[in-house]
Amino acid sequence: MTTRAGARLLEGAPIAEEIRAGVKADVAAFTATRGRPPALAVVVCGRSAPSMVYLERILKACASVGIDSRFVDVEGETVTAQAEELAAAVRALSADTTISGIIVQMPLPPGISLRVVVDAIDPLKDIDGIHPLNAGLLRLGYEGFVPATAHAALEMLERSGVTIPGAEAVVIGRSPVVGMPVSFMLVKGGATVTVCHSRTGDIAAHTRRADIVVVAAGKPGLVTGAMLKPGAVVVDVGINVVDGRIVGDVDFASASEVASAITPVPGGVGPLTNALLLAHLVRAAQRQTADSDAARVSPIAAVSPPPTQGAS
Ligand code: NAP
Repeated sequence: MTTRAGARLLEGAPIAEEIRAGVKADVAAFTATRGRPPALAVVVCGRSAPSMVYLERILKACASVGIDSRFVDVEGETVTAQAEELAAAVRALSADTTISGIIVQMPLPPGISLRVVVDAIDPLKDIDGIHPLNAGLLRLGYEGFVPATAHAALEMLERSGVTIPGAEAVVIGRSPVVGMPVSFMLVKGGATVTVCHSRTGDIAAHTRRADIVVVAAGKPGLVTGAMLKPGAVVVDVGINVVDGRIVGDVDFASASEVASAITPVPGGVGPLTNALLLAHLVRAAQRQTADSDAARVSPIAAVSPPPTQGAS
């Protein structure tokens, strides 16, 4: 499918469908061998409307591929009580051998640090890659768990046939959940990567050289067509609500006049993120059962070794 201006539209739904079909087959094989399906625990701390919408979506996605899911609701009367209850819930799920993966809905309520979750979660069940061990594994080229959104941006490029080795890539945003993991994965894939952020003086000077632009800043309209090299591939990770509509960080109309391919928002990276979380969950379940002895010794012993330098 192409945009009105002729750029290829990189839609997430068909790729997500392919991923879900693979996950469904893996879940069936796991269930047949182990006598139980893999199970995901979703922890929500302090209910809010968006977190409940997200929760429903992920529980439905699990059911559609045969994954068991458990919803853990952390309430707590005070911030301190809530933090303690959250830590206890995540510790209990980490120790529960019937649970293969844990996600904690972000952002946490004001006053509760991410450290509460990090200190309690088993890195082998950290399927959204928030634990420093998983961040370190990615940085050093091992195969740990990568944040699903960052993985989705890369998967979008790879499954759309975009050439990463040798490409000039610009990533806008340096958060631990999106910008940094995306840039590490692009470097690993053989791209030459520039990371821009709020202190970058002239973002356009960088994006105009880029074959691939990944935008994850949370600023609507940050990237326009005038900032792009003709033929660039644009992946818009941003999700913003403007006048009641969901938009990305890229001015779609002008960018699609210049880009050769572009993700829409909504409908681009978003659908892939959920499908990849399910894929991570199945990988966690397989790894915990197949490598349980190694995993007990050290989480690192259960992951693949890093590639040799320059191998990609
Ligand atoms: P974040 O933690 O707020 O990080 C935003 C990053 O963008 C920061 O590194 C910040 O720079 C940079 N930035 C902010 N304003 C900028 C500007 N004017 N110019 C250049 N850089 C700027 O956000 P996040 O969690 O990474 O999320 C980024 C976006 O992705 C958000 O819109 C979020 O809603 C969306 N998101 C989408 C999905 C999905 O499934 N599609 C999932 C998660 C997040 P500094 O570091 O200098 O502050």
